[in-house]
Amino acid sequence: MTQPSPTVASQATRPARGPELRLDGSPAPIIQILGLEKTYQTARGALTLFRGLNLEIETGAMVAIVGQSGAGKSTLLHILGALDAPSSGKVICASTDVAALTPKQAAAFRNREIGYVWQFHYLLPEFTALENVAMPLLARGQMKREALAIAANWLRQVGLEDRGGHRPGELSGGEQQRVALARALVNNPKILLADEPTGDLDETSAGRVFDLVERLHASHGLTSILVTHNMELAARCTRALRLESGRLSPLAAI
Ligand code: ADP
Repeated sequence: MTQPSPTVASQATRPARGPELRLDGSPAPIIQILGLEKTYQTARGALTLFRGLNLEIETGAMVAIVGQSGAGKSTLLHILGALDAPSSGKVICASTDVAALTPKQAAAFRNREIGYVWQFHYLLPEFTALENVAMPLLARGQMKREALAIAANWLRQVGLEDRGGHRPGELSGGEQQRVALARALVNNPKILLADEPTGDLDETSAGRVFDLVERLHASHGLTSILVTHNMELAARCTRALRLESGRLSPLAAI
């Protein structure tokens, strides 16, 4: 019996999602942080990063976060992506109270709702670009044939359709990061969290990766938060914030 072809188009071109509404009909923020506190217990004593941090991000925003090394930018992304827990406070991300998730629920939440891109691509070196992109689909139980077809579509969207058979070591830094971006988005998450996604790239490759992030952000109705040191790229976001001394403030006001 012939198997039906995988429905790639519907997975790959999901239209922009409408925001959830508040009781008064106005759009509810997709991310809401209220009174966030985060303290690490270290060998040299308590290290408090956030003391009552508040933040609301509306659906569809592309937000840059800048700040000195050690300010807590990565920690903030980790908390939003349920990779780290707040010490206290409320963190709602994609309609989910992330602090209330069990480890298993957190893994499912990340797989479903969050696309994560780091400064280093963390692609698996022994697998091809196509297999790396398909990995999150296989992890959630998708049939291999379907997963590879969807992954191929994503490689096309990042302009690497002819490099699917290449291993990460055979790709340039910019190409590796584009594969990582395809892998982050292959599950059609609502939210893209990117931690210095262009930090390890030369200017041209960084610009190309950022162009791609901008395009995919718009075409897939994403809400994106990008940590960056690059002020030019930050200025291209719909909103730019500086994290300093545990506080977020609009970049223009600094
Ligand atoms: P940024 O991304 O702004 O450079 P980070 O969020 O990575 O900052 O780290 C902020 C501070 O928290 C740093 O001083 C770092 O050493 C510390 N830190 C991060 N994670 C942990 C941890 N798991 N345990 C203890 N300290 C940590």
